[in-house]
Amino acid sequence: MTEINTRKSIKTKIIRNDEKGIQKARFIIQSLFALLCIWIGIEFYFFNQYLETGGATAFYSRPPGVDGFLPISSFMSFYYFLQTGIIHWAHPAGFFIFFAIVLMSLIFGKSFCSWFCPIGFISELVGDFGEKIFKRKLKLPKWLDYPLRSLKYLLLGFLIYSVVFLMTKAALKAFLDSPYNQVSDVKMYYFFAHISQTALIVIGVLFVLSIFIRSFWCRFLCPYGALLGIFSLLSPNKIQRNPKSCIDCGLCNKACPSFIKVDKVKTVISDECSTCLNCVDVCPVKDTLELRSILPGRKKINKKFVAIVVVLIFMIVTGFAMLTGNWQNKISKEEYLLHYKIMNSYGHPTGIKEFKKLNKDVEIKNK
Ligand code: SF4
Ligand code: SF4
Repeated sequence: MTEINTRKSIKTKIIRNDEKGIQKARFIIQSLFALLCIWIGIEFYFFNQYLETGGATAFYSRPPGVDGFLPISSFMSFYYFLQTGIIHWAHPAGFFIFFAIVLMSLIFGKSFCSWFCPIGFISELVGDFGEKIFKRKLKLPKWLDYPLRSLKYLLLGFLIYSVVFLMTKAALKAFLDSPYNQVSDVKMYYFFAHISQTALIVIGVLFVLSIFIRSFWCRFLCPYGALLGIFSLLSPNKIQRNPKSCIDCGLCNKACPSFIKVDKVKTVISDECSTCLNCVDVCPVKDTLELRSILPGRKKINKKFVAIVVVLIFMIVTGFAMLTGNWQNKISKEEYLLHYKIMNSYGHPTGIKEFKKLNKDVEIKNK
């Protein structure tokens, strides 16, 4: 431990923070998860080849992890479980992945975004690239930043309103049972495999914007991130600053990818904090900026512990699903082949009117 010379050190003895950073471990976890997603993508490609050839090529089992890319279906499945106690059979892996992510958020805030999410990872790399070019983090002025940040909540609000307030339990079940939901993963595959020019332009624009404004998609548009941000407010573990030992160097502020003014608060209570621990890593003074529980006892949480817990949550929840036979869905390859032939005729109820119609159809059917 060494002393640092600063304005404050004249009066107080300041102990340098010699703790090792956690960013390397975070990068490794993000990279491994991205590789896992690529592997799932390759397996899913072969599964779709099997469908495309009408079963003429070798059969590749559908990778259940692909359900993780169906956040709306997973959210509906989760809500259906809350109402009925039943895990829906169409995309059970999506239900468990969603559950693991929510659990992570309740314990360590929006940690999924900064420790696992492949989109978050790419956004971070693109943001780092942008920072290298511009030599600083660019931030939109407040008058533009705040309204744009509310967009993701509007998207989330629409989704919650549609599912929770507009759909009856029977309509929710009808949607989850529907052929559209059963093959929504295959449809998503073809959305990207035969991507339209408009979609490509939108992705390109988001990519370019992320070079200028760090994590543009995550900050302004991702409804999943918005939901996790809300859950994260309930997390008892927060970044906390000790104003007595803080030397006001502002390094934490500069390091925060979410533009949170860490050096101005005692406790970071923000829907944007993703528990990336960048701020904690750069703080030069020992025991000054830490992840701590706000519950009585205010225990300090070791950085390594965060890495271990988030990985364990993911492994335990998905492992439980596998061991209990709730990972693979119950759709046979013969059913997939049948669906494939006619799946372009399957429509998605998108607007409020269509959700109301779905409720009515179910009512008529049940009479
Ligand atoms: S406050 Fe700290 S942990 Fe939260 S996002 Fe900013 S740098 Fe990461
Ligand atoms: S990094 Fe932040 S919390 Fe740590 S000493 Fe500097 S201003 Fe204070």
